[in-house]
Amino acid sequence: MEPLKTAQDPEIPDTKLFSTTAETSAEGASPAPTGLLPGETVVKEGKAAILFPSANEVFYNPVQEFNRDLTCAVITEFARDFLAQRGVKVLVPGEKERVVVSLSEETNEEEKNGAEESAVTVTVGEKCEPGLRVLEGLAASGLRSVRFSLEVPGLQSVTANDFSTKASQPPAAGQLQGRQVSMLMYEMRGKKERYDVIDLDPYGSPAPFLDAAVQAVSEGGLLCITCTDMAVMAGNSGETCYSKYGSVSIKAKFCHEMALRIILHSLDQRAGVYQRYIQPLLSVSVDFYIRVFLRVFTGQATVKNSASKQALVYNCVGCGSFHLQRMGRRTSNGKHMKYSAATGPPVGSECEHCGQRHQMGGPLWAEPIHDPAFVQKVLSAVSGNPSRFGTSKRIEGMLSMVTEELEDVPLYYTVDSLSSTMHCNTPPLLQFRSALLHAGHRVSLSHACKNAIKTDAPPAALWDIMRCWEKTNPVKREKLSETSPAFKILSKEPSLEACFTVRKDANPQSRKRHLTRFQENPQAFWGPKARAKAGGGISADLQDKRKKFQNKRKFQATDSQLKEFPCKRFRQGTCTYGDQCCYSHDLEQTNEEKMD
Ligand SMILES: [Zn+2]
Ligand SMILES: [Zn+2]
Repeated sequence: MEPLKTAQDPEIPDTKLFSTTAETSAEGASPAPTGLLPGETVVKEGKAAILFPSANEVFYNPVQEFNRDLTCAVITEFARDFLAQRGVKVLVPGEKERVVVSLSEETNEEEKNGAEESAVTVTVGEKCEPGLRVLEGLAASGLRSVRFSLEVPGLQSVTANDFSTKASQPPAAGQLQGRQVSMLMYEMRGKKERYDVIDLDPYGSPAPFLDAAVQAVSEGGLLCITCTDMAVMAGNSGETCYSKYGSVSIKAKFCHEMALRIILHSLDQRAGVYQRYIQPLLSVSVDFYIRVFLRVFTGQATVKNSASKQALVYNCVGCGSFHLQRMGRRTSNGKHMKYSAATGPPVGSECEHCGQRHQMGGPLWAEPIHDPAFVQKVLSAVSGNPSRFGTSKRIEGMLSMVTEELEDVPLYYTVDSLSSTMHCNTPPLLQFRSALLHAGHRVSLSHACKNAIKTDAPPAALWDIMRCWEKTNPVKREKLSETSPAFKILSKEPSLEACFTVRKDANPQSRKRHLTRFQENPQAFWGPKARAKAGGGISADLQDKRKKFQNKRKFQATDSQLKEFPCKRFRQGTCTYGDQCCYSHDLEQTNEEKMD
């Protein structure tokens, strides 16, 4: 078989690519760079090595290595499924053959047949005729495409498309880039050879490319989409979010998961225009961006379900209680689906707990944002082959959390926000989770936020638990204003007696095993890279700003380091600092030790 070529715009002037062919040795050594010009550097990541002129530093962001690793892992599993249906078995570097123990002759027979069917194998760097056609729509450096072709088996072609380096001015670059990529994708719609995988990782919002992407992806094909416009999506300007995604973002504790549900809503809505619909595989909130992996299918009947898959969210401005309102109603009477208008709203004009008003956001995608079976496959493959990626540990940690999330419960609360509404001490996460379980509710964490409480318990049950907690951690009532949410909530007696005894099942596996679940700031000037500037580099202004805020963060880091140590006074019941205490009032550490 001939080596796979990475199709590349031949006129990209500033970015040369090494190893655009996949002729790497079995050890995976990348070709050695020769004849570097002054200021040029070679960046190695995964199996790829790319030459960067120093002026183009903006195009390599090492923090995004996790994103690229995860994408390789996801596309590999997608390719495995995709090609298994075509009788081709993919060989993943470093993966051991799965030993199958047969229990009877009958299964042995089946296995033989299965083995014969998948007698054709394909490995990385080998062009696979029935394999995946991959488009990297906004290939700033091409690194991602090179990595796909070197690290993901079962590909037919990889197209890296980016025109930004041709333009001299950044705004023009953005426009040109958008038009060209969309044109490329529009040319593919309706054709038999659409792309099986489209990866869009733009600087900022992917919104201008979504209409083309949902059409250019093949039947059941995979879209991988990044959004870095988190300020907009997380509630800082709901009106801008609406114009880009057809959904209003609001400021709330659950903003990171809300952002995921906004992009999914937008994709499903745009797909619906062309009688297509989405099926999310994995949706993650990482550092400063979000990333969704989803499949797109065609089917008029299923598209009719779309309205009932979206929901508005009512979020109380006083206490943060939230309720979802589906956009449509779908009922099944035997064989047929019946569609009708939704009824609502689910809340009164004032919050029943604190008496304040609700903000309305959405519509959001209100269905599951992951496919647990698929995520489990990616997780098993990565944890069973940890040397494949530089960031395997973090992939394992994050996907473990993802598999633990309650899939049918959108959004979440945080223990910190519940207790700050009440002006009381924050209950230890384990005890709070235990109280929910004791009361017969389900509860999980969320990969998108530390201290998240994802639960099917209604807000009334959460406030009852907080009222019970307050009885042993009293709030100074005389300090509360009579109109404050805390006063309103505490003026009612709890209707249940919460039990805070720690349950073993309150501590999820990912937490017990101390997996790397959240990233520490890895390097100076951490954060999204600046938009490409004429002549390269990031603006001096931004660099200064970064320095300024970097120092600010350092001071916070010292504080948060103290937070890792338990407060001795709190343990003895004599700490008077409450939330302001610089030491931890979270006794989960000791609880964990007891349980392990
Ligand atoms: Zn309220
Ligand atoms: Zn303390």
